[in-house]
Amino acid sequence: MALQPKLRRIALADQYFHHEFMCPGCGIEHPIKLEGENAWAWNGDLIEPTFNPSYRIQGVLGAFSTPPDPTPYLCHSFIENGRINFLNDCTHSVRGWHDLSRYVKLMD
Ligand SMILES: [Zn+2]
Repeated sequence: MALQPKLRRIALADQYFHHEFMCPGCGIEHPIKLEGENAWAWNGDLIEPTFNPSYRIQGVLGAFSTPPDPTPYLCHSFIENGRINFLNDCTHSVRGWHDLSRYVKLMD
């Protein structure tokens, strides 16, 4: 059986796409720009992705939940070969190397 991807490409509009991955530190998906200007360098692999440089994001955990969760977060990591290495400035307590989750195919 083929391995499921750890990164997926999402169409937000007809001409606009982004990629996202499930963060095991935050428990939410993080978007990453892999196409066009100012994109991260990427090894082109959806199964075991590598990005350069480090990935840093901050915001509120429940910006899209109902009711909204205004808890601020910061997440900073290196991602190599499908694994994520959390740095010390993350607001969550997860540190070091962890596997990124695979996206499960719900229907065939
Ligand atoms: Zn995160």
